[in-house]
Amino acid sequence: MSSEGKRILILGAGFGGLTAANLLQKNLSSLSPSVQYQIRIIDQKDYFMMGLVNLWILSGIRTFKDSKIDLNRLENKGIRYLNDKVTGIDIASKTVTIRESNLKLKYDYLIIALGAEYSFEEVNGFLENGGFNLYDAEQVTKLRERILSLKKGRIAICITSIPYKCPPAPYETSLLINDILVKNDTRDSIEIDIYTPTPISLPVAGAKVSQDVINLLNHNHINFHPLHKIKAVLNMEKIEFENGNRENYDLLIGIPPHKVPEVIRNSGLITHGQNWINVDKFSLRTHFENVFAIGDVTEIKVNENVAIPKAGVFAEAQAKVVSQQIVDDIKNDKNKYSSSRFDGKGFCFMEVGNEKAGYIATDFFHEDGPYTLLEPPSDESYKKKLDFERCKVNEWLLS
Ligand SMILES: Cc1cc2nc3c(=O)[nH]c(=O)nc-3n(C[C@H](O)[C@H](O)[C@H](O)COP(=O)(O)OP(=O)(O)OC[C@H]3O[C@@H](n4cnc5c(N)ncnc54)[C@H](O)[C@@H]3O)c2cc1C
Repeated sequence: MSSEGKRILILGAGFGGLTAANLLQKNLSSLSPSVQYQIRIIDQKDYFMMGLVNLWILSGIRTFKDSKIDLNRLENKGIRYLNDKVTGIDIASKTVTIRESNLKLKYDYLIIALGAEYSFEEVNGFLENGGFNLYDAEQVTKLRERILSLKKGRIAICITSIPYKCPPAPYETSLLINDILVKNDTRDSIEIDIYTPTPISLPVAGAKVSQDVINLLNHNHINFHPLHKIKAVLNMEKIEFENGNRENYDLLIGIPPHKVPEVIRNSGLITHGQNWINVDKFSLRTHFENVFAIGDVTEIKVNENVAIPKAGVFAEAQAKVVSQQIVDDIKNDKNKYSSSRFDGKGFCFMEVGNEKAGYIATDFFHEDGPYTLLEPPSDESYKKKLDFERCKVNEWLLS
């Protein structure tokens, strides 16, 4: 052990990383002073903003500027935060390299929570023809302005590939845009089309919930186009799909292809044929000693067709499990050690516009197979969604 005690290094200060850092600090600081430890968290961004806030910027109830929370606030809690890019992970020497100083940091425990990267470069013509990346908060303010200025035509929302973060988000977006257009008095002259490569709207949630989502779209006259994988954006008004169809658009919004961050691709944590880090589905351990991976950077297969979706609630739940294992290990509490297990349960609030949201509950490790339920939209679920974001940000950074 080093003179600093046990060194815990967390890569990524998003949903998973912030949960882990806070829990570790809380639980380790309550142990005897003889237990020496150091928590470091690294992120290339200097702020945190929850992904779901993109939709609130789109709706106009938030601004990007007012939603970013400074990650330096972690220092007030005794958590060391480094604003830098991770450029190398060397498992053999238990060392992480960061760009700015070419500093090499040693760890005793490593939590990889680096999320997913976007790669619109893979979609021919998307960037060149002015498509908007819905998942890039910096573009959403401009996107809202474009929606408000459009007087007639077609808005195309394209899911470019799976998996992508928060499977219901593109459908929420279509419903929120519907809401914006109704309020702007332009809905009658603007079509909304949503294209997905999948045969049903939410394969991860099964046929019943997928149909519930399509019913919501139908009810709001939003056109749903399954089995439409984008091949190329041909020009400023036409998209080509792999099934041969060509469709017109006036405003193009894309959910980008997702891939594992570059540093992971070069780290040996991914073996041939894998796209994401494989971990034990209960403990979140990788094949390497005291190296854990959580959240969007992982792939946790539930069965042949279904994997745990890329969503913050799962990153958070997994961070809890990993933090507990590390605390128990540091305490040398072998009995508790194996009892902390990820249970595959999660939830989310699916906004439908008009300050209402449906509630989706999931249980991916259910003994009868993965289980998902969508409760009808209500004012109450919308309020719970607002509270959810406020509470988490408060817990992780403000309190
Ligand atoms: C529009 C939208 C709506 C969503 N709605 C919901 C919702 O309602 N409910 C829900 O649960 N989830 C939702 N999500 C998904 C959720 O945001 C993600 O699943 C969640 O953030 C994943 O957490 P994570 O910790 O794995 O990764 P992230 O939160 O993405 O954190 C990864 C961090 O790693 C950093 N990083 C990456 N590479 C490097 C590097 N090389 N060096 C240093 N730092 C690096 C990044 O800057 C980032 O801060 C939504 C996402 C979007 C985009």
